[in-house]
Amino acid sequence: MEKKSIPSIFGSLVFDDRVMRARLSQKVYNSLRKTIDENEDLDEKIASAVASEMRDWAIENGATHFTHWFQPLTGVTAEKHDSFITPSPDGGVIMEFSGKELIKGEPDASSFPSGGLRATFEARGYTAWDPTSYAFIKDHTLCIPTAFCSYAGDALDKKTPLLRSMQALNKQAKRILKLFGTEVKNVRTSVGPEQEYFLIDEAMFKKRPDLVYTGRTLFGAMPPKGQELDDHYFGAIKPSVISFMEDLNEELWKLGILVKTEHNEVAPAQHELAPIYSTTNVATDNNQLTMEIMQKVARKHGLACLLHEKPFAGVNGSGKHNNWSMATDTGVNLLSPGDTPHENAQFLLFLCAVIQAVDDYQDLLRLAVATAGNDHRLGANEAPPAIISVFLGDELTGILEAIKNDTPYHGTEKVTMKLGVHSLPKFSRDTTDRNRTSPFAFTGNKFEFRSLGSSNSIACCNIMLNAAVAESLRQYADILEKADDFDSVLHDLIKDTIKKHERILFNGNGYGEDWIKEATEVRGLSNLKTTADAMPHLLDKKNMDMLISHKVFTETELHSRCEIMLENYCKTVNIEGHTMVDMVRKNYLPAIEGYLFTLAKATSYMQSVSDHVKCSYEVSTMERLSELTDSIFASCIALEESLKKLQDAGNIIRTSEAVRDDVLPKMEALRSFVDEAEMLMPESCWPFPSYGKLLFSVY
Ligand code: ADP
Ligand code: MG
Repeated sequence: MEKKSIPSIFGSLVFDDRVMRARLSQKVYNSLRKTIDENEDLDEKIASAVASEMRDWAIENGATHFTHWFQPLTGVTAEKHDSFITPSPDGGVIMEFSGKELIKGEPDASSFPSGGLRATFEARGYTAWDPTSYAFIKDHTLCIPTAFCSYAGDALDKKTPLLRSMQALNKQAKRILKLFGTEVKNVRTSVGPEQEYFLIDEAMFKKRPDLVYTGRTLFGAMPPKGQELDDHYFGAIKPSVISFMEDLNEELWKLGILVKTEHNEVAPAQHELAPIYSTTNVATDNNQLTMEIMQKVARKHGLACLLHEKPFAGVNGSGKHNNWSMATDTGVNLLSPGDTPHENAQFLLFLCAVIQAVDDYQDLLRLAVATAGNDHRLGANEAPPAIISVFLGDELTGILEAIKNDTPYHGTEKVTMKLGVHSLPKFSRDTTDRNRTSPFAFTGNKFEFRSLGSSNSIACCNIMLNAAVAESLRQYADILEKADDFDSVLHDLIKDTIKKHERILFNGNGYGEDWIKEATEVRGLSNLKTTADAMPHLLDKKNMDMLISHKVFTETELHSRCEIMLENYCKTVNIEGHTMVDMVRKNYLPAIEGYLFTLAKATSYMQSVSDHVKCSYEVSTMERLSELTDSIFASCIALEESLKKLQDAGNIIRTSEAVRDDVLPKMEALRSFVDEAEMLMPESCWPFPSYGKLLFSVY
């Protein structure tokens, strides 16, 4: 069959601007556009008109059902399908979809985590259409992107605070732009998330209970080859992976997702996919969809797509890079250095706003990426450390230094920088990138936050980032709006900000031991190593004050989120612990015992035949395996006891500390004995596929 061209399939399953323009009346279209572009409330009559066209379009494209598609705090997306059918008097059915059904849904939400926000007896929350993210068709169902709230109006999802944080930033950024003489309709943040993942053989995936239950391997000795040859990164892509990628791209293009880049990553069986950036809430929806479709397409190809942050010990885990910038509706990127002194001053102020935001709210950025899975990566020399710092590159750092010290910048032009008067010296963008050890790097016209885990929703970190930058901008606007001599107040503001926040700037090697010492002991930066350490800071007064003042969260929402995230951490590790116990008792110990018996029998048979048989392999293997069996058994019991104790730890903070200090180390110990035993056992007697098989059998 002839392949269809990309432009002809792109967005074919999306009720996008092209479809709206073609199908809606001018009046309805204009009104909807105003809602999308300027956040104006939507008239109910307009909603009905949109709903009826949406239904017709969806049915023409094969849909039978509709759903409000939302992002509860579980981290995955949720949907509850309703068919369009309504009985007609003649005994048949007609296909109906009203404006009300488009705008508002009422899923029975009692089983979603709410952190005590909504007692289960008052189970109903409601979903509300987010018209700024286009509706689409998936599995014969019209999916309407929505926000999810309780009846009291508390957000029960990740999208609501994300939209609020975008509003907060929009409001403050417009105040600043106005001071520079620019009036715009809105300022939006854009994100391009680079997504890493593993692809392994599905049949082998199914044979590993750890992968099935937890998404990561809890046992496994290293194969002879790992990633040491660096031969996988950007290597030729294997045919079955290419065929998966082709299929995936097509599915994502149909959904209007701008997938652009694909390549092999560092670890064997690891790959990356990146779309072209888009507005943050759309990018978030698209990334959630991408993760879902990746797993679905993989299954069609006999593969399993692993999105866990650390599916395999000993090789790199997977992250997600959050490329972030702010732009006006007129197309100006506020993080792009300009050509005139005026534009440069504006750029520097927005740059300072980000630097200050990252310094003031390091802990919020850190906890926004904290999960049980991501704890395995951060600080393990494969991903940025848990310490948050900003990389600017030598040239931009030099410029800031010159401003701070009123000294000439020794770039191409040697001038003392007086902002608003002098042009910024030109610096080449290419030199700003490629410090892969920095968690937060300026890459020419955007910042790249690299600490996210591969399975994280990008909503979490962008909520915090947008809110924190909105707060810097608010402070600047308060000062600048009162200024008599704008240029000189601006100059001092930038200078002061650099002085005050330069401790967060670091261009060196973030993996080095010296950095940890310098960052924590000299600079006083925070080093929150685990989720249990990081998450409680959500409730620090300075953080709550900021998030509440910008109306990103309410106090109740913050308490509930902290609880849910910690609960999620504890439950995740609890499941992992129980999975380990299960595998040890049901499979590993019986397998080793069986082999011990074989060795013992063989030794005794052989020695009964001849006195000259030494049986050194049999005896020494038997002795070591028998010791290991004892150790495995003892550590399994110890782990079981620790897991049991979790139930009585009291509150969630203490439970999470017990997980960190007691359960995880016990899991580590148990694993080490099993992995050693694996190296002594014949492959035919080992109950699960080895790392070698898992990592190297896709062609
Ligand atoms: P790499 O980091 O691998 O060199 P790029 O930096 O070119 O790749 O792009 C990575 C991601 O950053 C892509 O998703 C791209 O669309 C996105 N990106 C590029 N410019 C911006 C921007 N101004 N704002 C947000 N994301 C951007
Ligand atoms: Mg990048």
